[in-house]
Amino acid sequence: MKNYDVVIVGGGHGGAQVAIALRQNGFEGSIEIIGRDPNPPYERPPLSKEYLAGDKTFDRILIRPEQFWADKGIGLTLGETVTKIEPDLKEIVLGSGERIGYERLIWSAGGDARRLSCPGAQLEGVHAVRDRRDVTQLMADLEAGATKFVVIGGGYIGLEAAAVLRKLGCDVTLVESLDRLLSRVAGEDLSTFFADEHRRQGVDVRLGCQVERLEGDTRVTGVTLADGETIPCDAVVAGIGIVPSVGPLIAAGAAGANGVDVSDTCHTSLEKVYAIGDCAAHANPYANGAVIRLESVQNANDMANTVAKAICGDPQPYDAMPWFWSNQYDLKLQTAGLSIDHDTTVLRGDPANRSFSVFYLRDGVVIAVDAVNSVKDYVQGGKLVKARAEVSPELLMDTDVQLKELL
Ligand code: FAD
Repeated sequence: MKNYDVVIVGGGHGGAQVAIALRQNGFEGSIEIIGRDPNPPYERPPLSKEYLAGDKTFDRILIRPEQFWADKGIGLTLGETVTKIEPDLKEIVLGSGERIGYERLIWSAGGDARRLSCPGAQLEGVHAVRDRRDVTQLMADLEAGATKFVVIGGGYIGLEAAAVLRKLGCDVTLVESLDRLLSRVAGEDLSTFFADEHRRQGVDVRLGCQVERLEGDTRVTGVTLADGETIPCDAVVAGIGIVPSVGPLIAAGAAGANGVDVSDTCHTSLEKVYAIGDCAAHANPYANGAVIRLESVQNANDMANTVAKAICGDPQPYDAMPWFWSNQYDLKLQTAGLSIDHDTTVLRGDPANRSFSVFYLRDGVVIAVDAVNSVKDYVQGGKLVKARAEVSPELLMDTDVQLKELL
């Protein structure tokens, strides 16, 4: 049986970064990344942006060149799924039945795209956008001549996919069940701005619409809504969130209801087992005491760095400020902080100029900023968030006042 000092489950953003950070922190033991995806670690954000648009090749989205991993003595076992953990034996079991021993286990398995559950969800031409294989299938439909798309879900993935499909000249209808876009992550000003923008770009945005079923025999031909209308299409893209991939961890006894619970050094309730990234539920210092999962590259990377430090004997609590970005058309949205439980929003600048920001406050304290085409507001606003600055809304909205003066 093979044995490693560190076994990392999942070769995505968190898994790759924890291996890199271990070596950067001087860890000399054996490291093996075991990943279900057959490809070496690659970036996910371009999958719904430049890669889908054909502006970047796969080589250009690799997290490191292929040779890097061998050079650093980091083993890659790809195309293998970890199906079981036996914490008492400190062993994991792969889908192939092979057992592997670990001294420390780092679970970085992210999440699986949530699938539609309505009738017709299994038809051909219904796509998720989570990994390279999903996007390869979607691109194959485009190459085969699909031009009429229904995007289901008005979160970041759905909106980014809609923007790329429009850029490629497709006819796009976007269906969102709630009454505004980005409702889980952004305030109303931003939701309205993005809905207007997508409509201006030719997307038929339908809010407050429930999908009843997908039509077609073997391949999808339409999406029928609860009001009976059928929107004809050649293909569907569903961006309706993820389900954290934690089955084997929970089955092994790890605590967790929404993903797996971790401490401030990303340790699970199982001995010598850490969890990071999209699947890790943690008490984020920017979340007003709430235990949350964050789905972002920042969170995966910073949690990875936290675990690497802990393993290398320099444990430090995870307290990084959350940040995120999304690109749609020529719009770059950058977010710092978390707007959870905000009681006030402040608009700075004019959305009509396509460069503005929205600040979120709680009890007078700046807790988050969404900046659209405004790197300055993002950077300086982020400093206000980090400083937990108390600032009056009047000053925040006054574009003659430099944000750095408010620190
Ligand atoms: P992942 O990167 O998802 O990696 C998990 C890996 O584990 C996968 O490779 C999976 O195959 C593997 N795995 C799962 N189960 C098992 C198992 N049982 N055994 C072995 N391997 C397993 N974030 C941003 O901050 N900005 C963006 O613009 C942005 N855009 C995005 C666009 C898309 C299309 C997607 C899908 C995500 C985007 N994100 C973005 C989110 C970001 O990519 C994720 O938050 C990040 O990848 C999380 O890292 P992770 O290591 O937790 O999971």
